[in-house]
Amino acid sequence: MSKTLGPKCRLCRRETIKLFLKGQRCFTQKCSIEKNRGAPGQHGKKRLKVTDYGIHHREAMKLKKHYGIFTNQLQRIMDIAVNIRGNSGENLLKLLERRIDNVLYRAGFCLSRSQARQVVTHNHVKVNSKSVRTPSYVVDPGDTVEFRTDSGKKIAKEAFAVRNKQQDRVATWIKVVDVENPKCTIIQEPDLKETQIEINPLLIVEFLTK
Ligand code: SF4
Repeated sequence: MSKTLGPKCRLCRRETIKLFLKGQRCFTQKCSIEKNRGAPGQHGKKRLKVTDYGIHHREAMKLKKHYGIFTNQLQRIMDIAVNIRGNSGENLLKLLERRIDNVLYRAGFCLSRSQARQVVTHNHVKVNSKSVRTPSYVVDPGDTVEFRTDSGKKIAKEAFAVRNKQQDRVATWIKVVDVENPKCTIIQEPDLKETQIEINPLLIVEFLTK
């Protein structure tokens, strides 16, 4: 599990895009990107010369920070993605979207991916009736995700009520079956048009397969 210490908004400011790391706040005018605060640090506003390597590197960093994973985890997922038939960049994004922490967030059962990771590691979640404690667990179409503890269900219900008020809707590839006893099913492969960040997967594939 990737744990980022320090202010999360700095990470967005560094990448100059919204990475959606702080739950509700990301959808309000309090967001540092909405406020146009620029890159962090004393020299953040200086324009630095960006090399070709730097462009590729930053694209990979955006993805890593958005999904809250370490570089070695990203590399491992890339290695799997290149061995799946089809476009490696799309395969990479689909594998990341299908992580259980992301699924809980995209279903509206958690306020942020970091909260979802905590819910999973604290053993509140089960997939197809089996307990899952690894945030990197990848779900498949047809899988059912639900909560095994009352405290997990309470977190999910409260988060769902809050998320319902936001413009942020449940991803179309996930079907929320029950809200009172929070439960969802994966109905199809993730639709990449619905990913929250805009990145160029080709640059990431080039960076990670050098
Ligand atoms: Fe902070 Fe969220 Fe805005 Fe990023 S998107 S700057 S985490 S409020």
